Amino acid sequence: MADGEAVMTETAKTYPVPEAFAAQANLTPEKYREMYAASIEDPEAFWGEHGKRIDWIKPYTTVKDVSWETGDLHVKWYSDGVLNVSANCLDRHLETRGDKPALIWEGDEPGDSHTLTYRQLHTAVCKFANVLKKLGVKKGDRVTIYMPMILEAAYAMLACARIGAVHSVVFGGFSPEALAGRITDCESDFLITSDEGVRGGRKVPLKVNADKAADIAGGMVKTMLVVKRTGSDVAMQDGRDHWLHEAADGISADCPPEPMNAEDPLFILYTSGSTGKPKGVLHTTGGYLVWASMTHDYVFDLKEDDVYWCTADVGWVTGHTYIVYGPLANGATSLMFEGVPTYPDASRFWKVCDDHKVSLFYTAPTAIRALMREGEEPVRATSRSSLRVLGTVGEPINPEAWEWYFHVVGEQRCPIVDTWWQTETGGAMIVPLPGATDMKPGAGSHPFFGIKPALVDAEGNILDGATEGNLLITDSWPGQMRTVYGDHQRFIDTYFMAYPGNYFTGDGCRRDEDGFYWITGRVDDVINVSGHRMGTAEVESALVSHDAVAEAAVVGYPHDVKGQGIYAYVTLVAGVEPDDALLKNLVQHVRAEIGPIASPDLIQIAPGLPKTRSGKIMRRILRKIAEDEYSNLGDTSTLAEPEVVNDLIDNRQNKK
Ligand code: ATP
Ligand code: MG
Repeated sequence: MADGEAVMTETAKTYPVPEAFAAQANLTPEKYREMYAASIEDPEAFWGEHGKRIDWIKPYTTVKDVSWETGDLHVKWYSDGVLNVSANCLDRHLETRGDKPALIWEGDEPGDSHTLTYRQLHTAVCKFANVLKKLGVKKGDRVTIYMPMILEAAYAMLACARIGAVHSVVFGGFSPEALAGRITDCESDFLITSDEGVRGGRKVPLKVNADKAADIAGGMVKTMLVVKRTGSDVAMQDGRDHWLHEAADGISADCPPEPMNAEDPLFILYTSGSTGKPKGVLHTTGGYLVWASMTHDYVFDLKEDDVYWCTADVGWVTGHTYIVYGPLANGATSLMFEGVPTYPDASRFWKVCDDHKVSLFYTAPTAIRALMREGEEPVRATSRSSLRVLGTVGEPINPEAWEWYFHVVGEQRCPIVDTWWQTETGGAMIVPLPGATDMKPGAGSHPFFGIKPALVDAEGNILDGATEGNLLITDSWPGQMRTVYGDHQRFIDTYFMAYPGNYFTGDGCRRDEDGFYWITGRVDDVINVSGHRMGTAEVESALVSHDAVAEAAVVGYPHDVKGQGIYAYVTLVAGVEPDDALLKNLVQHVRAEIGPIASPDLIQIAPGLPKTRSGKIMRRILRKIAEDEYSNLGDTSTLAEPEVVNDLIDNRQNKK
């Protein structure tokens, strides 16, 4: 069979690993199976061995100390080991990779770019760390980082790690209220920001927002360190605010890394808030770094000369694990992008790939769908010949978008790694490791080493074989979150009460006849139509596979006869006008794709969908609108464009 051709199995379209890729892949199906079996049979031995992939100041003698019993819940890995994360990301590479590019920064404006070697990055981080010390930051202090995607954001994170401070990065697109909430929650008195950010040709008033947040937080913020990005005039408060370039003037580049216990906190990061109030997820030092480094290596088939680009913002966990900690721990070259996929035009991603010879590329379904809307031309106008692996994360990827990514962007050469994971898991958990498995568009596929997934029904009965249910993980892994910061009970309640002894992911999942896992969406979003349980992802993917549809979100609403009816919000491809015939056609299309049971009862054509700032569709808001109960929409502070909600309310199909 030729490369890039699919076969139809009983369950889904299946693509074999592209031949040329398989010939050079680090993993084979056999090696994956062997390593996976070893990781499950004897986790202590497996992680004892793989923990050595990073450098320890004092080696660990214990590997795993975990109890998931709700009375005594604790998660510890390598707990008597001592190490420093920044030394692992920098110092240990100096001898062999000192002159290798560590970070490539690509600015918002094309042509504005800058490359930094490991040696240069080491110097920059040591100086930054000395500035933090000079301004009074101590081991264990929480430091909030509210920054655009500039190199100093990475310096700040690594500098905290170097001196043992705990960072809490807050995405630069968040409002002053959202920032203040996160500052207060972790009692952080030190804030790092910049005068302004630049995204898609527009300026973002970060310092102004930071000032407002400091006011709202009522005196909590004692020190602000400000990085100059645009040079616009900003107000500086005497005694509280310091310019980085002034504070760093003449500062020493000598800053020995602080020896940290493996279980000392590394960072706090708040979840996206798709389902409610964001949780302050706490990750620690040793296990997290092993997990970040190991998953980055295997998920991307990493080679020494790769140029790797993850398009996430450092404000999300993807930016933590897969822009900064994973790649740098592995001595890789990581690209950091300040801009957006469509500025100055829809070719931008692929032009950057050509300019910097990017070989490993990682983005989100929302970006792929947005670019798909613009057609193939902006992609075809570029070469992309350096690309080797394409990744996705954040939401289920609709098979339609997967096919486009595979055929149009990757020209059938590059395996697609659809990585399912969460802020809580620290790194990838269910993923088709490249070279190790056939690919099914839309399937998360197989567990990473050490991950034991299980599917259960509502009563907690473990389901065998081909089935669908709630997704649990039945044993700990080194990258697991350790607690909700300041609220250990919330950690227990959220993840361990529903199915005692197991970690509950909150996601629904299907396992097919070939043992592939398919994430079907959040459990809260499951629809029950006349007793048939349905994941939202499946109905949405059926809609998106229609030529006229760019994006779709599906929720349930109370229905007199069926219990729940299906309400679909649909965004059309640029240039398509909605009419009755199209609506009928969409219903027919879903019936044909899935069956009559999945027919949408109501379809609302929407110019835009409410999304979190990380680009995830926020179905809980759509559910309220569909229920015609929109007076209390819950926490909307993490919405990217709150105004789309009003339009949706005005045009809802279900008015009482
Ligand atoms: P909150 O927990 O505050 O509601 P959130 O769950 O959106 O927010 P994240 O940790 O950013 O916060 O997202 C993790 C969730 O994203 C997963 O639980 C899953 O629902 C979804 N997800 C991430 N990657 C994938 C993927 N590859 N396939 C399917 N779903 C994914
Ligand atoms: Mg979540």
